[in-house]
Amino acid sequence: MEYQVGVIAGDGIGPEIVREARKVLDRIGETYGHKFHYEEILMGGASIDATGVPLTDEAIARAQSKDAVLMGSIGGDASTSPWYKLPPDKRPEAGLLKLRKSLKLFANLRPAYLYGELREACPLRDDIIGDGFDMMIMRELTGGLYFGKRVTEERGGLMTAEDTLVYNEEEIRRIAKRGFDIARKRRKKVTSVDKANVLDSSRLWRKVVEEVARDYPDVTLEHMLVDNCAMQIVKDPKQFDVILTENMFGDILSDEASMVTGSIGMLSSASLNETKFGLYEPSGGSAPDIAGKGIANPIATILSAAMMLRYSFDLDAEADAVEAAVRRVLEEGCRTIDIMPRDEGKKAAVTQVGTAEMGDLIAGRIGK
Ligand code: NAD
Repeated sequence: MEYQVGVIAGDGIGPEIVREARKVLDRIGETYGHKFHYEEILMGGASIDATGVPLTDEAIARAQSKDAVLMGSIGGDASTSPWYKLPPDKRPEAGLLKLRKSLKLFANLRPAYLYGELREACPLRDDIIGDGFDMMIMRELTGGLYFGKRVTEERGGLMTAEDTLVYNEEEIRRIAKRGFDIARKRRKKVTSVDKANVLDSSRLWRKVVEEVARDYPDVTLEHMLVDNCAMQIVKDPKQFDVILTENMFGDILSDEASMVTGSIGMLSSASLNETKFGLYEPSGGSAPDIAGKGIANPIATILSAAMMLRYSFDLDAEADAVEAAVRRVLEEGCRTIDIMPRDEGKKAAVTQVGTAEMGDLIAGRIGK
């Protein structure tokens, strides 16, 4: 098959880590008989330098015309970069917000997977980690408290602020369907997280999720209150497969879940709309402190490319092959600087490699 992939290399380490993800995709293409056609799209600081704005309408149209977009990261050092002397709507990050909105990316996926080899980076106790955990946080991205009406005004002599949390049944239904579809590709369990003991929006959330669940009899559904979920992620993370939740709860829980896995250089993510289209990017930023040094960890971007294979192209075997190659390279003791053991005694057992070498190693382990 042939696939059209938009590539936003971006700023800082972005171009370095995206190069390695393309290397791995090309190896997948050679091994499985696919062809990935790439087109570079400018966004963020690179776009400001070339066009004066962080995202042009032409760039949006080009992204829209692709099967999926693979992104590195955008932005620079806020204290030194001239991009941050511009008004907020002209800064690099404004490009990303505009792209997400234009492409109607309402579902955000962030896996939290603990690799056995990196368990020392996990802050949880050994008996809690057991033989590892693998959960996927699915967060609604375009509704809820962050997009509701807000006002700050004087009422009865007191400054008063008000934020509004709104969800309609259609917004809940479309993310719930996505959550159940994703669960079908995994261990077939959805934990829907809400605050239905207090909030009306959560009670509607729960009702609609239950309606959607009827179309997925092979997937187990459970409900959990958000406060309990925050505790359970650190108490027993193994119990979770897909965590399905609204925007603000997902914002908080996805950071909590990702931090129990360890390094930011390992965390992939995807944002999806109602079609098969998705924007795939590492969870970390452009890391200006290490840009150009050839030491950034490309694994989060490579794993984001694996998500693209799985969720936009339905190439599950190919996605499995990328994930298995990452595991093998870690098992063989290869580490970028950010995932080196902290314990001096353990450093002798592993080999430190740079960005390009890590990409070569992973591409080299791709097999059918
Ligand atoms: P950051 O994630 O870029 O860096 C935080 C720390 O993690 C740094 O020490 C960095 O070296 C390290 N790090 C990050 N990714 C790494 C990798 N792949 N390998 C090794 N180490 C890695 O966060 P920041 O410094 O707060 O932000 C820098 C810039 O990135 C800012 O302009 C910010 O707005 C932007 N940003 C962009 C995105 C995005 O493009 N989606 C996301 C977050 C931040």
